[in-house]
Amino acid sequence: MSTAEVVPDPLAERLRAYEGRPAAVAGVGKDPVNEPMIRHWCEAMGDTNPAYGGPEPIAPPTMLQAWTMGGLSGHQGRTGAYDELLALLDAAGCTSVVATDCEQEYLRPLRPGDRVTFDSVIESVSDRKTTGLGTGYFVTTRTDVRVDGTRVGTHRFRILKYAPARRKPAAPRPRPVVGRDNAGFWQGVAEHRLLIQRCTDCGTLRHPWLPGCNACGCPDWDTVEASGAGTVYSYVVMHHPPFPAFDPPYVVGLVELAEGVRMVSNVTGVPYDKVRIGLPVRLEFRTYEDAEGPLVLPVFRVVEGRGAG
Ligand code: ZN
Repeated sequence: MSTAEVVPDPLAERLRAYEGRPAAVAGVGKDPVNEPMIRHWCEAMGDTNPAYGGPEPIAPPTMLQAWTMGGLSGHQGRTGAYDELLALLDAAGCTSVVATDCEQEYLRPLRPGDRVTFDSVIESVSDRKTTGLGTGYFVTTRTDVRVDGTRVGTHRFRILKYAPARRKPAAPRPRPVVGRDNAGFWQGVAEHRLLIQRCTDCGTLRHPWLPGCNACGCPDWDTVEASGAGTVYSYVVMHHPPFPAFDPPYVVGLVELAEGVRMVSNVTGVPYDKVRIGLPVRLEFRTYEDAEGPLVLPVFRVVEGRGAG
């Protein structure tokens, strides 16, 4: 008989030793069950159930956790065990956390004036799991909520503490917003032509496209096709915030075309930390494919031999 190979996971064993250990002992709700908190909750949730108002209201059952929360000033009665468990996971690279679900059980309604006490226990730690977010462990805590020593409800709260998976740029590239004022520009781009607007009265070139001339106010225009030559006028390197369609760090450049107008675009062809003001660049058109079909965008490639050093 063959035996399946079991990958040993010493961390799981260490984590499992925390099962059954208290996470909070003899916790006391910071406020008694009260009508203002009930009202705020119902307003936030849009819950108009008449049982939660009127002369003898009950608290919405799903508020159970609210009566045990520590608020900004922290928890009462919290033990070190839960923090130790999280620290072990942090040290193992599982530095991210997401709340995955909660389960509640209600034994009787809570009413204004009820004073809540609670105890929490680390109920279970899962085996190592790989999810879409990354690989880690599910940790479930169980909080028993009591009034006058009698259990009125139980709240189970589960988190995934995980090492984030390497993010893939899976999202499609955002599409430009095309309207009457710029449709000609994007039509040109689709045909691999970069068109600059030109005032037919005073001859001023302009970009981005506008309905009229900023220099003379004339609404009439035609276009000239850019030669494609340009230089990096300015740039930023984007590290943060992350956006799913882009893989940081990347350069967003302000490119000055040979014709004199400037446009924002990506600067390509050299590592992000080799881009410099004044670098000569050359227009090229890049096609991105997604579910909506091809998307053509103008980008600027550093002219060969000019990006190093
Ligand atoms: Zn003009």
